[in-house]
Amino acid sequence: MIVNTVADLQKKLDKERAKGHTIGFTPTMGALHDGHGALVKLSMERNDVSVVSIFVNPTQFNEKTDLDSYPRTLKSDEKLLKKLGKVIIFAPSPAEVYPKGLDTNVKVDLGGLDLQMEGAFRPGHFEGVVQVVKRLLDIVNPTQLFMGQKDFQQFSIIQKMIDELEVPTRLVVVPIQRQDDGLAMSSRNVRLLPEDKSRAVVIYKTLKAIKRKKSQLTPKECIKYAMERCDLDGFKPEYFDIADGYTLKSIKSWDKHDYVVCCCAVWAGDVRLIDNMIMKKPRSLKLY
Ligand code: AMP
Repeated sequence: MIVNTVADLQKKLDKERAKGHTIGFTPTMGALHDGHGALVKLSMERNDVSVVSIFVNPTQFNEKTDLDSYPRTLKSDEKLLKKLGKVIIFAPSPAEVYPKGLDTNVKVDLGGLDLQMEGAFRPGHFEGVVQVVKRLLDIVNPTQLFMGQKDFQQFSIIQKMIDELEVPTRLVVVPIQRQDDGLAMSSRNVRLLPEDKSRAVVIYKTLKAIKRKKSQLTPKECIKYAMERCDLDGFKPEYFDIADGYTLKSIKSWDKHDYVVCCCAVWAGDVRLIDNMIMKKPRSLKLY
């Protein structure tokens, strides 16, 4: 079932809440694939009602061409979700999400989590992400929010926002879903040229190699290795960063940190792919 307005969605959800039902919520920008499917499946397993939003949020794009070329495939998204079971699809217009006269800017201290990696290369991106997720949380008021590890910095920032603003929703993180060859599933993959699509597996292979090499190489040496390995013809690694998993600040040595993630962005032709891999994690830390 597709709902396009905030009023219609809230009417439905209020009825569910009155019955004591829990609500799972998965925000997406559409062009759905099995990576999104994993989030929605978990939401359905753990909640009485599941809402999936499909909204290409203009405020998180820093380049108009990227916004314009973002795939929009509502019909096939609907099909994919139908196969998974019963969900409410919320597909609002920009005017529903950002109505005139409503201040949707979010003032929150993100503790610098937004300044590294994607934040450094995509100025204003996380401001837009925080703005849309907070607005959607205000609309849906879910019991649980489902996000992917694929966007490591994004879920870290949203967790921080939830903590700081005491939003009464629990964030559930779902591991990265990959194709059989290892390429992380992404809505942007459909824009890859066939030869780039098969060569893009180099990103996953490089992340795995760093995990193996971390006993012999410093983080700096690992980054140099990764930037060189992904520098294929037509590919351009934008960054590899090895960072503390809590602060997202780059690390200089492996042993001073118990939670470490390697995040990267690589251009394959004119498609920007991001990926990450957890290199080190304390046993007590439950991510999933
Ligand atoms: P997007 O539509 O790309 O904004 O993604 C919506 C949500 O799906 C985000 O929480 C993403 O992290 C998550 N997601 C996208 N791709 C994957 C993937 N391959 N594995 C796990 N989660 C994903």
